[in-house]
Amino acid sequence: MNKQITAPFSLETPPADKSILVLSGKGGVGKSTVAANLAISLSLKGYATGLLDTDFHGPSIPKLLGMEGTRLTSSDGEKLNPAECGSLKVISVDFMLGSRTDPVIWRGPMKMNVIKQLFEDVNWGELDYMIVDCPPGTGDEPLSVAQLIPEPAGAVIVTTPQEMSLSDVRRSIQFCRALKLPVLGVIENMSGFVCPHCGERTELFGSGGGEEMASEMGVPFLGRIPIEPEIVSSGDSGKPFVNHNGDSQFARDFESIVTAIANGVRSCI
Ligand code: ADP
Repeated sequence: MNKQITAPFSLETPPADKSILVLSGKGGVGKSTVAANLAISLSLKGYATGLLDTDFHGPSIPKLLGMEGTRLTSSDGEKLNPAECGSLKVISVDFMLGSRTDPVIWRGPMKMNVIKQLFEDVNWGELDYMIVDCPPGTGDEPLSVAQLIPEPAGAVIVTTPQEMSLSDVRRSIQFCRALKLPVLGVIENMSGFVCPHCGERTELFGSGGGEEMASEMGVPFLGRIPIEPEIVSSGDSGKPFVNHNGDSQFARDFESIVTAIANGVRSCI
């Protein structure tokens, strides 16, 4: 971690050990990117933060954080030590897999045992925040994760502005309601593109749908994140965007989202 966020950032003392589930109605909308950057932002601000990647079919957190190939160790022979990215504690199902090219064909109960272990049998220590990158969708896997995480503070739902993605958000909100899981809010990712040369904004996939959806469903809207080509290269090179591009528009937009999430967590407890 070599660059601190420079924009003003103020959070009051966080509640102890609060889990935030990061959900999306489908894959590819930037859920893991948001989870990784949220966890990094909180840890850069000095909060004891854990990041738990429970996405069996596409565990991308290790790649986003440059931690591929990490294998977990145990200092007492009983509990696993989380891997570390600066002061952020990280556990991914990918750290348990033999080869990155192996398809994961574990049956449901086995997967759930693994997730339970990743939460319970790990030396997480005292945490202020635990960010959980959930499997996409509203099926059995995110359902089991949401049920296995003890007392989650709430969920953040990531979407893109397209109609198809927005109807998935409706389902995600209903999913949270069925589980009595507070919705901390909706983030509209890939919302517009600002030309780096002329500064003109183009709404490639439309814009504002996430906010309308949030208001229609009566949940908070946390903010928009533009399409930022460097997010792809920083993800591919394992350099989390917020701590390498602290003065970018993305980092500024993201910072107000982090503050809104933290405020939402406090009001939910
Ligand atoms: P998910 O977890 O929803 O499957 P990812 O976080 O893995 O999605 O993101 C999917 C792809 O989109 C990645 O290549 C990522 O770098 C890229 N991406 C995510 N958010 C943005 C953004 N705001 N601008 C540009 N690319 C993005």
